[in-house]
Amino acid sequence: MEPHSAPGFSQLIEAVRKVAAEVAAAQAPDVDAKARFPIETLASLREYHVLSAAVPRELGGAGCSMEELAHLCSALAQSCASSAMVLAMHYIQLACIARHGMDSEYFRGYLRELVKRQYLLASMTSENGTFGDTRSSICAVRRSDGRFLLDKDATTGSYCAHADAILVTCRKDEQAARSDQVLVLVRREDCTLTQTTSWDTLGMRGTCSPGFKLVSSGAEEQILPGAFADSSAQTMVPYSHILWSSLWWGIAAGAVAKAAQFVRGQARQTPGTVPPTAQRLAELQVQLQALKQNWLSAARDFDALGDEREELMGMGWALRLNNLKIASSEAAPQIVHRALQIVGILGYKNDSPFSLGRHYRDALSGSLMISNERIAAKNASMLLVYKDAA
Ligand SMILES: Cc1cc2nc3c(=O)[nH]c(=O)nc-3n(C[C@H](O)[C@H](O)[C@H](O)COP(=O)(O)OP(=O)(O)OC[C@H]3O[C@@H](n4cnc5c(N)ncnc54)[C@H](O)[C@@H]3O)c2cc1C
Repeated sequence: MEPHSAPGFSQLIEAVRKVAAEVAAAQAPDVDAKARFPIETLASLREYHVLSAAVPRELGGAGCSMEELAHLCSALAQSCASSAMVLAMHYIQLACIARHGMDSEYFRGYLRELVKRQYLLASMTSENGTFGDTRSSICAVRRSDGRFLLDKDATTGSYCAHADAILVTCRKDEQAARSDQVLVLVRREDCTLTQTTSWDTLGMRGTCSPGFKLVSSGAEEQILPGAFADSSAQTMVPYSHILWSSLWWGIAAGAVAKAAQFVRGQARQTPGTVPPTAQRLAELQVQLQALKQNWLSAARDFDALGDEREELMGMGWALRLNNLKIASSEAAPQIVHRALQIVGILGYKNDSPFSLGRHYRDALSGSLMISNERIAAKNASMLLVYKDAA
């Protein structure tokens, strides 16, 4: 697809809403029950060129802003949270390449290829022995004669078996400290993945995220230029926390929509009276709106920064993004819980049209996905020295 023919945001959001309603919603119960990858949804997203939404327009993508990507993820999450998480994680990796690889001919070419072929990107940051700290690696990339070798023992690798490439964090060489990391683009055809653990979880079952041992090689130019310290603070963390928050909101919004449908049904049975559940629904809308405003304002302020990336290295943004992540991941399951109290037993049943079990289980993953405790501990140390937290 040439740059001029790339779909714009309005076409993409329309396409995602259609995929969410017609494909993802229909497949979500089976994806969840079998803990299988949402192949039908991803095939439809590819068909509408949704996977290249974050590629700059000059390379043939849609050049979507953070706010636009967040709307795409949240729209899909209302029907299938696993599919939305796959899309969000893909955009996070894509943004790392698009924001830090533009001076590399290799990565510019890769993005053009991604637009054409609608590649899906996965991520391997977790590692056995680093205990959930993404800014620490044990494995190291080894370079020689323009090539690299990289092996990693990852604890969790969402949809790695279904991706076209994986962005892997590692030490920049064998002498480097654990925090002196780089990101390496590993192409699926250049690696072997040996599954080491299972993925039979409460929720987010369609993300298919077991542990993997990765053995890979490739051209040295596949190592993303610059330090991961920079791409993490300037891109991976902001994209993760904002896009995840938008999709957790999407799960909550999906649950509230079911509760609203239930309440309207009750109202129809007793015309002229407002059922007591309607007031609880109105109260719930307040929490849902506050959650949305939190990720929306962060997305807009992030977009307003433009090329001012240095600000993202500071404690002000780090704290704000961490607070957003903690607040959204805590609020989403609470909202689903309150929606369940409104719907009652029909929400508790797995085989009812008002069932909220999947929403509940999916929403619970947020606080563990980079543990809130770990993030709160980082905030606590920053707040000892940061004085502007008004
Ligand atoms: C749906 C889903 C998809 C995922 N996909 C991927 C993926 O694609 N790629 C990938 O690499 N990873 C992925 N992960 C892994 C994730 O990002 C985290 O790395 C992982 O969940 C952390 O595992 P943990 O809870 O064992 O680790 P830890 O962060 O070590 O937490 C273990 C325990 O220690 C506590 N703890 C940790 N630090 C502190 C502290 N400072 N103070 C107090 N308590 C603390 C925590 O609260 C928790 O109870 C995914 C996770 C989920 C849920």
